[in-house]
Amino acid sequence: MGRAFDLTAQPVPGVETPFRRIVTPIPVPESVDLLETMRRHEPASMLGQPPVVWDRAEGVQVHDRYGNMWLDWSSGVLVTNAGHGAKEVRDAILATVERGLLHTFCFPNAERIELARALAEVAPPELGKVFLLTTGSETIECAVKLIRTYGQRLGGKRKIGIVSFEGDFHGRTLGAQLVGGIPALKEWIVNLDPDMHQVPFPDGFRVTDTSFEVFLRALEAKGVRPDRVAGIVMESFQGGSAAFAPKAYVQAMTRWCREHNILLAFDEVQAGFGRSGRFFAFEHYDVVPDLICCGKGISSSLPLSAVIGRPELLDLYGPADLTNTHGGNPVCCAAALASLKKIRTGGLTENAQETGAVLHRGLAEIAARHRDVIGAVMGRGLVAGLHMVVRGSTLPDGDLACAVAEKAVQKGLLMFAPVGVGGATVKICPPLTITREAVQDGLTALGEAIAEAAADAECR
Ligand code: PMP
Repeated sequence: MGRAFDLTAQPVPGVETPFRRIVTPIPVPESVDLLETMRRHEPASMLGQPPVVWDRAEGVQVHDRYGNMWLDWSSGVLVTNAGHGAKEVRDAILATVERGLLHTFCFPNAERIELARALAEVAPPELGKVFLLTTGSETIECAVKLIRTYGQRLGGKRKIGIVSFEGDFHGRTLGAQLVGGIPALKEWIVNLDPDMHQVPFPDGFRVTDTSFEVFLRALEAKGVRPDRVAGIVMESFQGGSAAFAPKAYVQAMTRWCREHNILLAFDEVQAGFGRSGRFFAFEHYDVVPDLICCGKGISSSLPLSAVIGRPELLDLYGPADLTNTHGGNPVCCAAALASLKKIRTGGLTENAQETGAVLHRGLAEIAARHRDVIGAVMGRGLVAGLHMVVRGSTLPDGDLACAVAEKAVQKGLLMFAPVGVGGATVKICPPLTITREAVQDGLTALGEAIAEAAADAECR
């Protein structure tokens, strides 16, 4: 259960740096009417993010109408990899709209075909086909369908098992939640799928034995034989924790898949498009999967997602049997082509690696100052997770994490609500266009927010 952010305006000290400006109470008193309307007419779930009413966003900054400017460390939940409102992306959208092409369904359009080719080019050469959809969750649904269809061709009705990981998030549609490893999301589902199995994610903090033996033992304990498994779905890094699995683990898992004719799909919905300092985060493991699920940063803007995979998998369904209404929308595809070009020619993956090193050095320093409340720092490149813990323990402290995010926002550093186990991971994921100076400025604000939130927690 997430927490609702308070909609009462609170006086906060003014902030003025080259990257952040706060000149009003937060939330802004003039915006409270609008926030109350949101509370009346949108689901309670929409109260789960800090009450900043975005007016415009550019580069690494988000502005409201009242003169405040935030340095954004959310990328609007890891979407705006090429920066907010990138000119190239805006121009591509406008050109497509002005030409008069807003929708084609599955009729061919040049933007969709070009994007399919461009995505196949950035994927490993074995993965030559691309199916475009609209959301990340849909790519997981599609991957499950392809995995199970293929499994049944190989091994009949019994080769349908899907193995995934505890704590992994794959989306909020039914199938994606079943694959996901977060029990709270499945409480409402009466009959779980008996052929979906979760095993521990080897994060090195909450799961200390990170050997592949744990994977094998977990399946054995559940009575799952490899000939009953059709595929594995894994987040390349775990969204809720920013944890990467050890390379040796993923390599052993990939060998096991090959040995038993099991497909491997990486969920790159938040990990891809340069975020981790490699174009796809699975590249850190030196393995080649069968399917890649993409979304979010694919377009840095409009809704679009993609399954990239081996041709024999994406061709499992014949003409008109694997379709959707809005995937491959020409305006979204134009945006994605422009974003992809900016990420590649603008060196944004390399920038994620370089500025990410500055970020992680700074976070290590902050963690060293607050060893008692920061249990671990995870991530690579421009993604990081700070695991806030109850003082001197490894128990997650969601209240403290929430206080850190709230204080950061009051200081002009925009973060979304904490995620992961107990809602205690403060997640950091700025646009990949960020500079070293902006990273340093954000670290200053975050360091202050943590010091204040930890001091308040001591008085609790
Ligand atoms: N997979 C991962 C790893 C995600 O982070 C998300 C979204 N947070 C999804 C799937 C679902 O994507 P969407 O919300 O676009 O359906």
